[in-house]
Amino acid sequence: MDIKTIIRTIPDYPKKGIMFRDITTLWQDAGGFRHVIDQLVWPYAGVRIDKVAGIEARGFVLGGAIAHQLSVGFIPVRKKGKLPAAVISEEYDLEYGTDTVEIHEDAIKKGENILLVDDLIATGGTAAAAINLIRHAGGTVVGAAFVIDLPDIGGARRIGKMGVNVRTLCEFE
Ligand code: 5GP
Repeated sequence: MDIKTIIRTIPDYPKKGIMFRDITTLWQDAGGFRHVIDQLVWPYAGVRIDKVAGIEARGFVLGGAIAHQLSVGFIPVRKKGKLPAAVISEEYDLEYGTDTVEIHEDAIKKGENILLVDDLIATGGTAAAAINLIRHAGGTVVGAAFVIDLPDIGGARRIGKMGVNVRTLCEFE
């Protein structure tokens, strides 16, 4: 299946000059949705995974489906201030300014193997911050899985240099 044909591109969203890759058109296609979940999961056959961590918000949809398929728990990695209990936080740089991701401080037990999931990797800044959070909590990131890679921006290479195995399913310029 060529999943690129069911990912919609919105020019100039959320701001001028950005080509936004809209994965909702893939999710609304039953065969497409099942295909990407299967393709993200199979490389981890035989790998011990204790929990899936999904990055807000599209990583919740993909990560929830993957956790269900693996019969493991799910951890939301959320933007600052959204989680109700005690959190650990990690700040990261954006093009202009900074952002912060958080997980509940009791979400990961020491030594647990975590699979990180999001829809798209661009600079890798969000994923790198999530990896740092998981490591601070005592977890091991056994893989990072994304549907879309923007290889010209280099995020997958950046995450690879952090010692994390990266899986992506398609590329856009
Ligand atoms: P990064 O931190 O790697 O630069 O950006 C990745 C984050 O931004 C991901 O959480 C992803 O959901 C979001 N993102 C950035 N650009 C796009 C895009 O074109 N399409 C989608 N679906 N998400 C994007």
